[in-house]
Amino acid sequence: MFAPLVAWLRQQQITFSENAAIGPHLYFKIGGTVSLLVTCNAAAQLAAVMKKVIAGKLPYLVIGGGSNIAFFDGLTRVVVVLAQAASCGSTVPIRLLDDRSLAVESGVRNQQLLSWCAAKGAGGLEFLSGIPGTIGGAAAVNAGAFGCAMADVLGGADIIDAQGNLRTVDSGHFGFAYRDSSFKFGRDILLSLRLKFSPGDEGLISIKIRDNLEYRLAHHPSYSQASAGCFFKNPWLRGVKASAGKIIEECGLKNMTVGGLSVAGEHGNFLLNHGNASFRDLQCLEKKIQSAVAARSGVVLEREVIYVAADGSKY
Ligand SMILES: Cc1cc2nc3c(=O)[nH]c(=O)nc-3n(C[C@H](O)[C@H](O)[C@H](O)COP(=O)(O)OP(=O)(O)OC[C@H]3O[C@@H](n4cnc5c(N)ncnc54)[C@H](O)[C@@H]3O)c2cc1C
Repeated sequence: MFAPLVAWLRQQQITFSENAAIGPHLYFKIGGTVSLLVTCNAAAQLAAVMKKVIAGKLPYLVIGGGSNIAFFDGLTRVVVVLAQAASCGSTVPIRLLDDRSLAVESGVRNQQLLSWCAAKGAGGLEFLSGIPGTIGGAAAVNAGAFGCAMADVLGGADIIDAQGNLRTVDSGHFGFAYRDSSFKFGRDILLSLRLKFSPGDEGLISIKIRDNLEYRLAHHPSYSQASAGCFFKNPWLRGVKASAGKIIEECGLKNMTVGGLSVAGEHGNFLLNHGNASFRDLQCLEKKIQSAVAARSGVVLEREVIYVAADGSKY
């Protein structure tokens, strides 16, 4: 099924591997193998690959930094495309559109975008400091922190829709909700984004970026431990957003372990993979936490992290 695409990728000299282990490409390090793994390092290349994949009616999944996702343990029969951007010194794929908006390719890392913002005096995106992954992934899941989220700064995007058409859409197309958008479980692909910013002082923007990162380093488990960040969404309780981590801790579940996976001692909403956790361990720990929390506090916790099934569908 994938042979014509493989031949084309070879001809185009695009990086790919067949029956590739997906775990090493994910922050959680959980997942088996995928039929084909393609790495794109520019939006134009991503567009060309996706047109080919969609024209061939192949099952596909586009991911960015892989920091919010875990795959099934066996073989996932799908083309996984890593949408990343090569960082080549001054030629970062980010440009000013006017004095309050910028265009950025979806594969640019958040921290790369923030360095650019600090240098140009573009404020308002500092909440992304310390959130791993790409700006495309951040938009797809409406990532946020410190009271701001991508929905607050996104103006529009250039996309390829599931029929292979290039389109320019506005923020309404994203259907943003808390840690959710139409891209999170959808088929459309983000090529580049238009983001709004507020002009500001370069030094102050740098300080805010640093302070936000320091806060995270002090309150979250170390970045060197495999996780996908907050595993459950913060639930609404009596009209207010409550902390899922606090609820898990109050239920006495810190350090609860299944196989190679445990609830972090530092933060109840981080599940840590100690090196050999399977997808099965993850599902089992998720269920144990959800039932213990429901029994002890009556709260129903909803997963924030994305799972990928054997057929490549996200859920
Ligand atoms: C230590 C740690 C801390 C974290 N802290 C936070 C936090 O404070 N706030 C927060 O919101 N999240 C946090 N996260 C979760 C995660 O980092 C964010 O959700 C991040 O924005 C996901 O980006 P990504 O590029 O890694 O996306 P991926 O995990 O690669 O993908 C996520 C989703 O986006 C889709 N996607 C990615 N790229 C594209 C594209 N080009 N076109 C279409 N769809 C695409 C994927 O298909 C998938 O549905 C944390 C994770 C870790 C490991």
